[in-house]
Amino acid sequence: MNKRLLASMLGFGLLLGNAIADPAPNDGINVGAPSAIRTLVPAAELEKAAASQYGELKRTAAAKNALAPDTHPQLIRLRNIARRILPHAERFNPAARRWRWEVNLIGSPQINAFCMPGGKIAFYTGILDTLKLSDEEIAIVMGHEVAHALREHARERLAKNQITNIGAAVLGELIGGGRYAGAFRAGGNLLTLKFSRDDESEADLVGLDLAARAGYDPRAGVSLWRKMSAASKGAPPAWLSTHPAGNDRIAEIEQHLPEVMPLYEAAAKP
Ligand SMILES: [Zn+2]
Repeated sequence: MNKRLLASMLGFGLLLGNAIADPAPNDGINVGAPSAIRTLVPAAELEKAAASQYGELKRTAAAKNALAPDTHPQLIRLRNIARRILPHAERFNPAARRWRWEVNLIGSPQINAFCMPGGKIAFYTGILDTLKLSDEEIAIVMGHEVAHALREHARERLAKNQITNIGAAVLGELIGGGRYAGAFRAGGNLLTLKFSRDDESEADLVGLDLAARAGYDPRAGVSLWRKMSAASKGAPPAWLSTHPAGNDRIAEIEQHLPEVMPLYEAAAKP
């Protein structure tokens, strides 16, 4: 055999050997650094505003007898799922370590759920009852919403709103003064904030990762969005107005399942 051919075969063999002996570590979903623009809005101010809006929502619900008590079976179920997911939050945002997470259930037919900046989670009974969500599907929704908070999508949105709506002069004043009420006047209510398609995509994938690490089958992402899609045939529910359920969404989830299935397989199951 000619020496060059032998050398190239050996070289190929070594490469192949390396590829088999040292597979790329499966790290789940990898995301880049969060958008730098978000730092125009101080996280502490945003979290304070979110906590205040969340408190208001709870008070309004309680006044209508629509805030689930701690003993409500569906609330216990939600909190158990959160207890499994939240230990993995820091992976996507180290600051989440000091967040004061809350999970509440609001009695309302709306198909809705959210996690506000700083870890304030709420589900509406409508999303659980109408879609008859399994624990896995709840974990996917919760993972998605928690991912928005961890990746600070609201903070980024508000920072961008500042620039477009108010202008550089006011922005300068806000940075100098550290007074961020303006961010919320410009950004509107945190509960009705609409994210970009990119942010939605990122929340889907980070959500799958969190659910898988918590021991929930990430393939439930597919069944969840099929249910959402079917529900959107009638009047569009609240969550769907900000979360269009399309085949592209399901296709993207399916495409990334190989990255998260090993996490699910390795995780302790509920
Ligand atoms: Zn979303």
